[in-house]
Amino acid sequence: MSLAELTDVVPGKRIIYIRKSVVTSALDYAKGNPSDEVVGVFRAYDEWPFQEFIPITNILEEKGGEYKVHPQEIMDAIKDTKIIKKDSNCDVMFFHTHPNWLAYPSMTDINEAAFQGYYSIYSIKYDEFNAFYFDGIMWKPRVLCVC
Ligand SMILES: [Zn+2]
Repeated sequence: MSLAELTDVVPGKRIIYIRKSVVTSALDYAKGNPSDEVVGVFRAYDEWPFQEFIPITNILEEKGGEYKVHPQEIMDAIKDTKIIKKDSNCDVMFFHTHPNWLAYPSMTDINEAAFQGYYSIYSIKYDEFNAFYFDGIMWKPRVLCVC
């Protein structure tokens, strides 16, 4: 089976390609604020891999167990993307951290997901980084391939 076939399964590609340098940027940013939930966006341009990490401010006063994104920063980060134009959702992967919990979606994450698309969660406590595709109903685990 070709790479194109493996990754072009609807709904939601099974394998997500991401550059090692942007994973390092995101995890360094997370580890620099280990007691806060930090937030960001991975961007791809035309094709995978994801090749840019854009940190987004968590505007909550108490950042230890939740986040709320800075509305202007998130719009600036995704305004020219396919996810906004509703063409595709492959050029954005949302990122946030769980300081003291597993790298799986919390009830808040499930209830408040704004977009159908790719999400990633890094657990500071367990040093685990997982990705998911949210199809509007279910959160489906995805393989992150760091390249
Ligand atoms: Zn969460």
